[in-house]
Amino acid sequence: MIVLMNTILLGVVGLFFGSFAGATVWRLRASQLREDKKAGEKVGGRDSNEVKAIKKTSITKDRSVCLHCGHKLKWYDLIPIASWLQLGGKCRYCHKRIGWLEPTIELGVAAFFAVSYYFWPYQLDTAWALVQFASWLVAGVGLAMLFVYDSKWFLLPDRVMYTLFVIGAVFSLTTLYGQTDVFSQVANIALAVTILSGLYYVIYVVSKHQWIGYGDVKLGLVLALLLADWKLAALALFLANLIGTVVLMPMMLSGRIKRQSHIPFGPFLIAGWFFAGIFGTQIIDWYILFTLGTS
Ligand SMILES: [Zn+2]
Repeated sequence: MIVLMNTILLGVVGLFFGSFAGATVWRLRASQLREDKKAGEKVGGRDSNEVKAIKKTSITKDRSVCLHCGHKLKWYDLIPIASWLQLGGKCRYCHKRIGWLEPTIELGVAAFFAVSYYFWPYQLDTAWALVQFASWLVAGVGLAMLFVYDSKWFLLPDRVMYTLFVIGAVFSLTTLYGQTDVFSQVANIALAVTILSGLYYVIYVVSKHQWIGYGDVKLGLVLALLLADWKLAALALFLANLIGTVVLMPMMLSGRIKRQSHIPFGPFLIAGWFFAGIFGTQIIDWYILFTLGTS
């Protein structure tokens, strides 16, 4: 009963973090576009929301505004999901469509919080265990931003990445607590980093920056720190490729994307990380049972 109540509570908390993540994505995009503009690149294009975002938002401004009319949003416009549903996905002031990004990221982070708690594979009985779980949740909020940003604009903003690096380091440090053999856990983390980040670095160098971006190398490092286990890191890599294949194959066969198309890999890596982190130990146990059972 208490587990169910906590799950629902975390889901609700997740909605608000998701709302924050959605607003931050637009602020990051606005500041990115301003930097591009300063650097002399052509900005805007098909997405007219983007040009408006430059004018109306700033990374430091913490009050959200409508991307269309620039109207400052009141607290009752910012209630996750409820505001969106009540207004039918439109701005209260100019009645233009707000889009699906906000409700999607809100529900996504809420689901991430609830599922992470419900299926968390470790005991939450010490302060360190709680710090570890909390850093997993906070990291998920940042990764949700990267997930959306990379899907939409093929970029993983450094500002989010560096914050995630610190959170990942905290997560890794908590796994050292209570270890009888601290050295072997440090080696374990180092191997996880080698698998998830080192491999991408090699691909990045070998392909001369064509197949993947440096952002994926950094993301690999962050995700490895947030798993702190080489088996889970290897599983995350495998799942990322599996999910990527399942999602992209129909699009490739139908000709919607071509071989040369730029495909953001960040979202698949993040999905692989999530499943490996929450269900990885179980998956590995099943796999071992299965292979022992059939041999
Ligand atoms: Zn508006």
